[in-house]
Amino acid sequence: MAQEDHIYDLIGVGIGPFNLSLAALLDEIDEVSSVFFEQKEKFDWHPGMLIEGTKLQVPFLADLVTMADPTNKHSFLNYISKNDRMYQFYFLQRLDIPRREYNDYCQWVSERLSSCQFASRVSTIRHVREEETYFEVVVENLQSNETHVYKTRHIVMGTGSVPVMPKSFQNLPEQDVFHTADYIPNKDRCRTAESVTVVGSGQSAAETFRELLKEQRECGFRLDWITRSPSFESMEESKLSLEHFSPDYVKYFYQLPQKDKDEIFANQGLYYKGISNHTIEDIYNLLYEYSIGEDELNVGLQVLSEVQGIEEKSDGTGYLLDCFHWQKKESFQHESEVVITATGYKPYVPEFIYYLSDFLQWDDEGRYKVEADYRLKKKEDVNNEIYVHSGISHTHGVGSTNLGLAVHRNKVIINHLLGREVYKMPEKSIFQSFDIE
Ligand SMILES: Cc1cc2nc3c(=O)[nH]c(=O)nc-3n(C[C@H](O)[C@H](O)[C@H](O)COP(=O)(O)OP(=O)(O)OC[C@H]3O[C@@H](n4cnc5c(N)ncnc54)[C@H](O)[C@@H]3O)c2cc1C
Repeated sequence: MAQEDHIYDLIGVGIGPFNLSLAALLDEIDEVSSVFFEQKEKFDWHPGMLIEGTKLQVPFLADLVTMADPTNKHSFLNYISKNDRMYQFYFLQRLDIPRREYNDYCQWVSERLSSCQFASRVSTIRHVREEETYFEVVVENLQSNETHVYKTRHIVMGTGSVPVMPKSFQNLPEQDVFHTADYIPNKDRCRTAESVTVVGSGQSAAETFRELLKEQRECGFRLDWITRSPSFESMEESKLSLEHFSPDYVKYFYQLPQKDKDEIFANQGLYYKGISNHTIEDIYNLLYEYSIGEDELNVGLQVLSEVQGIEEKSDGTGYLLDCFHWQKKESFQHESEVVITATGYKPYVPEFIYYLSDFLQWDDEGRYKVEADYRLKKKEDVNNEIYVHSGISHTHGVGSTNLGLAVHRNKVIINHLLGREVYKMPEKSIFQSFDIE
């Protein structure tokens, strides 16, 4: 249990993979006292999207610790070994592990770390200036309903992202109109529907559509997939493109003027927003299989069409979607009993960060400014830092939400926290150059 009378070196807010990786690395470093708080009852990684057959989109080597220290006991391979699955994993011969297994691995690590405290929501942070300066972190225990106040010299924010639901889709019955983030708990609802429509065309949309396609014939529902994009675009997955998710690219991107960064990032969607080739292939194979001996599939894939509004049908049997084909400039209506929005996620920056407005520096867009080593920029030279994992795409670029860069970021944070090179940073880690050499 965390102690209220102690001043910690570091308190972590949120335990997703990014802060869990930091907690795991710090477990080996005795000189740092730390505690991490998570509002969920246990570690759970995007549980609504843990669909059987989905894979981690980075090699398992991007686990919580290996990229910093392959000998660390919290590695994925140690998890495999301790669970007596080494031969099965060896014969599996895959780098891309099931997403459910990644979640199970992270749960295994989180249960071994005494610094991780669950059912604990951080509700406020205050900066205190006494003889010593520190932060006060107010934490609500969601099991006992008690509030505790902890002290720390530094903070690390790992609050991740939250699903984005367009305004027009809000305030409708949640069992009929929901985000892909809530797909698993609503899976049975889809099975009993007359018709299901997926809106959007990123990886989550494709994974949900693929899963529904597998069930569609047996359950008998009509299945539609609608996107405003001109095509069901595939993610840029060539090896040289993947080098954008490297410390070198982060370093190059960081030093560009903010205006350039915003423009570049806005045009890099296909590095992280498109659909994996293997998912498209699965979908196409299923469609082809189903088309054998059939005059017509009870499935529709509609591109170039923006869903602009949704209303409940007067007889209560479903919803009417107002769609607009933006190339033909024609409106049309689409009917569906269940509608699943695959409309993405946005970084979650808790409200209480804005209470520290006087302490932090903000850019013209109202976003916090971030140092190269992931500390929020402060207005004065105070010896207390807030490190951030979340909401840093505007400063550190396209790799900010990628699991493959989390350990690198934690190496940087730990080196700064300890004021020495605990982890050696590579001069160059990829083949191509982004900057002028
Ligand atoms: C469905 C999905 C699949 C993805 N798959 C991949 C992939 O395969 N490869 C890849 O590189 N990236 C992937 N990503 C992107 C990214 O890696 C993940 O979003 C990852 O979870 C980010 O980790 P995180 O630690 O920042 O945040 P999260 O996993 O979002 O965790 C943040 C945690 O903070 C907690 N929290 C927030 N506020 C508070 C508070 N005030 N007090 C206490 N706790 C709080 C939340 O409850 C949450 O558990 C995926 C994203 C999604 C949505």
